[in-house]
Amino acid sequence: MIFHVLTIFPEFFEGPFAHGVVKRAKDAGILDIRIHNLRDWTFDRHKSVDDRPFGGGEGMVMKPEPLFLAVESIWPERTPRQKAILLSAQGRMFDQAMANGLSREAELLLICGRYEGVDERVAEHLADGEISIGNYVLSGGELAAAVVIDAVARLLPGVLGNEASAAFDSFQESGHGEGLLDCPHWTRPADFRGWKAPEVLLNGNHEEIRKFRKRLALEKTARLRPDLVRRP
Ligand code: SAM
Repeated sequence: MIFHVLTIFPEFFEGPFAHGVVKRAKDAGILDIRIHNLRDWTFDRHKSVDDRPFGGGEGMVMKPEPLFLAVESIWPERTPRQKAILLSAQGRMFDQAMANGLSREAELLLICGRYEGVDERVAEHLADGEISIGNYVLSGGELAAAVVIDAVARLLPGVLGNEASAAFDSFQESGHGEGLLDCPHWTRPADFRGWKAPEVLLNGNHEEIRKFRKRLALEKTARLRPDLVRRP
């Protein structure tokens, strides 16, 4: 899968994808992350990407031209499996179901806003959708783009060492079932400062372990996230 990021701060992305699962997937050629500097599509002396808001008011607004030109040059012939997403505090709330959906696309292009936001014509006529990563306002879309890429990348076939581990992640419909939280985990030592790992996990009986984990996932979800428990 190919991810494109359109940003005025390309250096921002030197860190987030240089470690762990995403880096390994990049090195293995499972995914490709292409960071594009929006200023490459500006033609004035100052490489301006923003301008004053019509109607007056505080701050600056990102201009539509560089964004349209960038997307049109990255995808001269856009196909339905090439999706452009505007990161925006006003967008649909990002969740695991959305990450699963996006992981089935061929290419994703993430547009990172800055300043007071982006000229509305980008949301209306360029982006396929607007995504928010939470009900708070960030200074820019870069952190949000990194979050979306990380969450989608780990769902791609071959990215996680163990294929099953994404299935049992929190919020997945597979695994423990119905979008519950993941079950709690323990590792060695079995007795740490007198706090013991559950005996059943040490006995090697896979069916018993499976049922125990499912019960614990349900209990933990009911305790911490009762909103995720579906009543029959
Ligand atoms: N004036 C805007 C508003 O109140 O909705 C906020 C603009 S914010 C300072 C600048 C950029 O950060 C946005 O254009 C968007 O790309 C990004 N951003 C801010 N909060 C976000 C969120 N919760 N999720 C995704 N992107 C966000």
